[in-house]
Amino acid sequence: MNDCIFCKIIAGDIPSKKIYEDELCFAFYDINPLAPMHFLVVPKKHLASAAEVGEEDALLVGHIYAVIAKLAAELGFAEGFRVVTNVGALAGQTVHHLHFHVLAGRELGAFN
Ligand code: 5GP
Ligand code: ZN
Repeated sequence: MNDCIFCKIIAGDIPSKKIYEDELCFAFYDINPLAPMHFLVVPKKHLASAAEVGEEDALLVGHIYAVIAKLAAELGFAEGFRVVTNVGALAGQTVHHLHFHVLAGRELGAFN
């Protein structure tokens, strides 16, 4: 997508603090961290949100979770973390390219 900020980050047109990249996904630190560890994992395929995930994306989403588990082990927070994906304005989604927030490094508390 031409005007998508995360597509531009994946392409390197907007700089980011990259953590990991492979043929399917890209991980980078959130510019406005909400926890001591807060990064985003995004598919290279542009999907607007988790509401657009189809059966054809099963391998992609499974792969992203495997990457998250690998990064959690490598970065040393595998004992406790949260994965969040917001869908739509009601859930606070501000960037309309599917992304998984990974949060760790503090007590995260209950949802409300
Ligand atoms: P959402 O609110 O859509 O679930 O999350 C979007 C996230 O993207 C926010 O946590 C926000 O801080 C992050 N973000 C927005 N623009 C940029 C950017 O240009 N670079 C980085 N690294 N993060 C961004
Ligand atoms: Zn995009």
